[in-house]
Amino acid sequence: MERLQKVIAHAGIASRRKAEELILEGKVKVNGKIVKELGTKVTENDQIEVEGIPVEREEKVYFLLYKPRGVISAVADDKGRKVVTDFFPHIEQRIYPVGRLDYDTSGVLLLTNDGDFANALMHPKFEIPKTYVARLKGLPSRQAIKQLERGVMLEDGKTAPAKVKVKSFDKKKDKSIVEITIHEGRNRQVRRMFEAIGHPVAKLKREQFAFLTLNGLNAGEIRELTPHEVKQLR
Ligand code: URA
Repeated sequence: MERLQKVIAHAGIASRRKAEELILEGKVKVNGKIVKELGTKVTENDQIEVEGIPVEREEKVYFLLYKPRGVISAVADDKGRKVVTDFFPHIEQRIYPVGRLDYDTSGVLLLTNDGDFANALMHPKFEIPKTYVARLKGLPSRQAIKQLERGVMLEDGKTAPAKVKVKSFDKKKDKSIVEITIHEGRNRQVRRMFEAIGHPVAKLKREQFAFLTLNGLNAGEIRELTPHEVKQLR
């Protein structure tokens, strides 16, 4: 949902201020009806007309990026570091990431210009499962794994139940590979959860977001979601 004057301004028809004037003057219609309320919110599907001319909405696009490590989950960085939108040099739409992966985390990241879609996916209410594979220092005990599964106390509260699987352990190097699926998306959550049980993360990769995996992609590669995938996520 966006404010009507913002949509008009974004479509390049008028400045935000001029768009407000047009609305107040009764020159804007939403779904065929004149709207004079400045606060009116519209969705992607509402038909807007300004002085009888339909407003072209930006086409909605949906991508999956295999985010490499060493990239910021943002559309710009004031320190000039690489950002996730650098992997889309030719795209016209103003896309942005759905949530974030840390600078040093690799893996599945969705990008879109569909605000309603992005907000819904990020809302904790929808509890999208996200699966991470972590390389850890040491091997967590059974008890520590149970604790992760039940919930650990972090400074922003106890974590919701998670699924945890130990994939391998290298005794010589004292390193383990552990898979964890969480339904929340707090800042640096997986790293903080493993830290809380005394096994800091050395490397982290998000292998799955809902049903979407990295299959067929190398780090730094992108693909468009299919209409069917977009529908399933809604
Ligand atoms: N949890 C983390 O600690 N880092 C991420 O990038 C994602 C989840």
